[in-house]
Amino acid sequence: MSVDENCLFCKIAAGKIPSRKVYEDDHIYAFHDINPWAPVHFLMVPKLHIPSLAQAGPEHEALLGRMLVLAPRLALEQGCKPYPEGGFRVVINTGDEGGQEIHHLHVHVMGGPRPWLRG
Ligand code: AMP
Ligand code: ZN
Repeated sequence: MSVDENCLFCKIAAGKIPSRKVYEDDHIYAFHDINPWAPVHFLMVPKLHIPSLAQAGPEHEALLGRMLVLAPRLALEQGCKPYPEGGFRVVINTGDEGGQEIHHLHVHVMGGPRPWLRG
């Protein structure tokens, strides 16, 4: 399935529900988390509907690699200080016990001066 019409993040990635955009290309959409834990907290999602990392397969290797490589660039653009003094945290919650609430694969990128609200 490429897009799930009932999925919140599919709707956000398609611009059908408003969000504060951080980045967009043909395959990836990034936007600020509505309930940030840290001074910088944005989400990166594939435009393709993949429910979680547990459903990622070999056909998604390029997409996932692209998202990971994009993370440091967007983190810097959003105000994270450079590695090693600055940096950021990348989290992919997967499944109920993994703390996943929205079932569309998303990468949390969090950073900025501490203390953070959580984590
Ligand atoms: P997770 O627990 O990993 O599934 O995280 C879902 C994240 O999506 C949470 O950090 C929420 O704050 C965030 N979120 C939920 N709805 C929206 C929205 N409409 N716009 C931006 N972020 C959202
Ligand atoms: Zn989706």
